[in-house]
Amino acid sequence: MRVVCKHCLSVNNVPKKESYAKANCGKCKNSLLDTRPMELSHANFDTVVANSDLPVIVDFWAPWCGPCKMMAPNFAKSATNFPLKALFAKVNTEEEQHLGARFGIRSIPTIIIFKEGKEVHRVSGALDEANLSRMVSQFLI
Ligand SMILES: [Zn+2]
Repeated sequence: MRVVCKHCLSVNNVPKKESYAKANCGKCKNSLLDTRPMELSHANFDTVVANSDLPVIVDFWAPWCGPCKMMAPNFAKSATNFPLKALFAKVNTEEEQHLGARFGIRSIPTIIIFKEGKEVHRVSGALDEANLSRMVSQFLI
């Protein structure tokens, strides 16, 4: 399966397994098991979403949004349950206004799940970690 490196954006081919002891990017050698959500911008959004066989879970948020800030740790915690199973990412809609417009984001936080480059699910409003993880589990490959 194709896995986009969060650090250098190169596309790695990784065998699909139940769990991984170790997996490093062939180019920059950073760990592909790093679950910290990556920042998406207009510059890298399409590369990541189009080249990832893993579902991409995108949190559209903004710094002034209280519920977004409350959800951020839940989002990061949920990500730790899915190393090389799902790619968690964030879009700061204040800095990336046209990404927000492109996806018709009307309220934040909004989470959109992409598979094979296409939106397959969206939910608005803050979620706790259990609900986030349950939702993501439905979209694993
Ligand atoms: Zn890399």
